[in-house]
Amino acid sequence: MTKNSLVVAGCVEEWAQKSINDFVSKRKDGLAHIRVSIFGGVKNREVLMGQLRAILTPLKVKEVNLFAHEDCQAYVARKFSGNDVEKEALENDLRNTTAAIMAETPKLKVKAFILTKKQMILEVE
Ligand SMILES: [Zn+2]
Repeated sequence: MTKNSLVVAGCVEEWAQKSINDFVSKRKDGLAHIRVSIFGGVKNREVLMGQLRAILTPLKVKEVNLFAHEDCQAYVARKFSGNDVEKEALENDLRNTTAAIMAETPKLKVKAFILTKKQMILEVE
C-alpha cells in the first residue's frame, strides 16, 4: 500500500540539495518523502506544477514543501542589485507557486522556505 507523501521541491544545486536533505531528515511525520528536483525550483513553476500534477494522486501527496535558495544559478541573468532584491524575487516565486498549487488543489498543505547562504531556513508566509 502506498503511504501518504510529503513532496519536497527544490533546486538541483548541490548545497541546496544538502540543506533540503538535512531539513527533511529531521521530520518525523510518518510520510514518504518524495523529492522533486528542478533547476531553479519554483522559478520553473510550470515544470514543477507538471511534476506535482503527475504524482499528486498516485503517490497520495498530502503536503508540499517548496524551497528556493540564495545564490541560485537559475537567477543569474537577473543580476540582483542586492540581497533584499534577491530575497524579494525568491519570495515572489515561492508565493506565486504556492498560490498556483492552492488554486488547483485547495486541500493540499503547502509551505515555502528560503535557504540562505548562512545555512538558515526561513519560512515564507
Ligand atoms: Zn539553484
